[in-house]
Amino acid sequence: MRRAAAAAGRDVNDIRLVAVTKYMPPEYVQAAMSAGQHCFGENTLQGAHNKQELLDDPLNEWHFIGHLQSNKAKSIPGNFSWLHTLDSLKLANKLSASAIHAEKTLNVLLQVNIANDPDKFGLPVESVYPFVENLLHAGLTGIRLRGLMAIGYRHASRDETRASFASLRELGEACAKRFDAPSFSELSMGMSNDFESAIAEGATLIRVGSSIFGQRQTAADTHPGTP
Ligand SMILES: *Cc1c(COP(=O)(O)O)cnc(C)c1O
Repeated sequence: MRRAAAAAGRDVNDIRLVAVTKYMPPEYVQAAMSAGQHCFGENTLQGAHNKQELLDDPLNEWHFIGHLQSNKAKSIPGNFSWLHTLDSLKLANKLSASAIHAEKTLNVLLQVNIANDPDKFGLPVESVYPFVENLLHAGLTGIRLRGLMAIGYRHASRDETRASFASLRELGEACAKRFDAPSFSELSMGMSNDFESAIAEGATLIRVGSSIFGQRQTAADTHPGTP
């Protein structure tokens, strides 16, 4: 991270590492905590629950990075301070209501299907402006819209990946300007294989699992973001 930030002329402290602990045992999370890591990402409620119970530390900050059905929204505030995968107004409404009920404010990122890949979750690029407009109009006080998230293409060249990260950055900048929303400044992009490109293109949150904790032995590996 330090090398990639330096190469991009950025301060590494402006980039947060979300250590993705999905399918990893709690001992691995404990080891990361001992090394000073407190920001963790999980893609299922179940996977997170066990670890959150065992490893209760007020310094820990949990990020939900998987796809979420709106009927599960109530479990997010209270257990997670960020959700990276907002993709519907229905989910936004439920998250906000649950957050208000839990007396929390949830940071949310809009997931964008930057490659317009029909097999991926997230809003198509052309739906982002109307979505943000509707969301801001809805006045949902339990959630705070912080920026955009995308998952890089799976079978893309380095250049294609970097170009997709650049287009997410441009979209984020355009949203912040169009909606005059200074807190709309976060970009969650980059995983083990492509976080350097993401940092070069302005990522503020990178989501890295296997290059920290080792390979996951599960089919879910081939479908990041889905349980
Ligand atoms: C699993 C996952 C990651 C981490 O992937 P690695 O390649 O192991 O770094 C990042 N983002 C999402 C949404 C994931 O599901």
